[in-house]
Amino acid sequence: MNMKNIAEELKTRFLNDESLNLAKRLQTLKNLRNSIKSREVKIIEALKRDLGKSDFESYATEVGFILEEINFVLANLKHWSKPKKVRTPMTLFPGKSAIYPVPYGVVLIISPWNYPFQLCLSPLIGAFAAGNRVVVKPSEYSPHTTKMLKEIIGEVFEEAHVLLVEGALEETQTLLAQSWDYIFFTGSTSVGKIVMKAAAQHLTPLTLELGGKSPCLIDRSANLDLAAKRIAWGKFLNAGQTCVAPDYVLIPRELQKTFIEKMISHLKMFYGIEARHSEDYSRIIHEKHLDRLSGLLLSQKIAFGGEAYREDRFLAPTIMENVGWDDKIMEDEIFGPILPILPYDDINEAVQNILKRPKPLAFYLFTNNESQKDLYVDKIPFGGGCVNDTVLHLANPHLPFGGIGTSGLGSYHGKKSFDTFTHEKSIFHQSPNIDLPFRYPPYQGKLRWLKFFIR
Ligand code: NAD
Repeated sequence: MNMKNIAEELKTRFLNDESLNLAKRLQTLKNLRNSIKSREVKIIEALKRDLGKSDFESYATEVGFILEEINFVLANLKHWSKPKKVRTPMTLFPGKSAIYPVPYGVVLIISPWNYPFQLCLSPLIGAFAAGNRVVVKPSEYSPHTTKMLKEIIGEVFEEAHVLLVEGALEETQTLLAQSWDYIFFTGSTSVGKIVMKAAAQHLTPLTLELGGKSPCLIDRSANLDLAAKRIAWGKFLNAGQTCVAPDYVLIPRELQKTFIEKMISHLKMFYGIEARHSEDYSRIIHEKHLDRLSGLLLSQKIAFGGEAYREDRFLAPTIMENVGWDDKIMEDEIFGPILPILPYDDINEAVQNILKRPKPLAFYLFTNNESQKDLYVDKIPFGGGCVNDTVLHLANPHLPFGGIGTSGLGSYHGKKSFDTFTHEKSIFHQSPNIDLPFRYPPYQGKLRWLKFFIR
């Protein structure tokens, strides 16, 4: 297929091809599940080559995550795809009304490198389940996983239904210049703006799954040891290259020292004395990112870690203490294994500082105080999050996942993925046999009857 014309070609096929019915979609998703299962070892190997991920993390956050998503869709798709009858007001008698879920048409999905398998296939499953044709463009930074994705997509889907296009900037620009029916982008906030601008040229609806600095707020009532353990897990999973990773920690000043000691002790339990020799600790995707991260380290504030080895793209789990809002590390999303700790005296001041900054993708509160939870849910804007945990809100297919403001637009996962890629077509079915004269001119004498019905 010609890259420059790919959207148009698929749109033409979309109009001429009736074959993507519900039965076909269900069968194809089952085939996708089988294809993934049969390549499980190879996928995990590819993720190890791209990111040094452990088998456990690769299965939990990539392969297993996608199998769960497919199973959830298979269990519900028939129900979701049914037209929904809705009530009709008496004034429209004797008509009937229904909403028909229909696909947008041809969807472009652009995905990043940090969970390269999951973040390519998860939106693809939603888009395809809803009946769309899909073009996916994975990141150029995770080539081994892309190779696996290409193999699987080529085996499972017909080319007219789902196509994987490889490429970096130039290829993505070629794709974005075309007119799509929907665009789904996962990546950085800066590229999100480029994608939205391109979509605006054709008034294409879109979802933006972006990033940002996700805070952890610990209050004085929290279980400090558990907070240290769960934050350490969420932060250093995939070496901090997780969009919803805790970016920084806000903690009462007098608890900072104990918290750091507890976190160091958990990190040693997780990854041993030297994380470099741990099978369970990931690598930084590219030297370029390792250099960027090394540039954020401020030696006098390093409480733990800080070692970097360019030859194997390793950066140790690192904790920085006594960090201030004006420090360089607080400017942009860290997206790596460095955790700044910001001590506070007054929790309201800490909250005010969060509110001054762009709305985060995630926010984590550690507390045993019920009233803090209300403040958390009602007053602070963020995409989604957890109370007394990190990252796990993503693992529930009943919770839509997405950002707000600069951290994103729209959401997906589970039913929300189906809804995201579905246009709700509203149809009013009128009777051809009864034609009440009331609505037609001349209106003389009818207004008071209208007011009788609509008050
Ligand atoms: P990125 O924005 O650099 O790249 C994402 C995709 O956009 C890639 O496929 C890339 O090829 C393409 N791209 C890059 N520059 C482009 C340009 N100028 N024009 C058009 N396309 C371009 O992001 P990344 O480095 O791959 O991923 C890291 C970012 O993604 C972080 O900010 C992270 O928070 C975010 N992220 C968000 C989520 C989420 O679900 N909200 C998930 C994972 C990552």
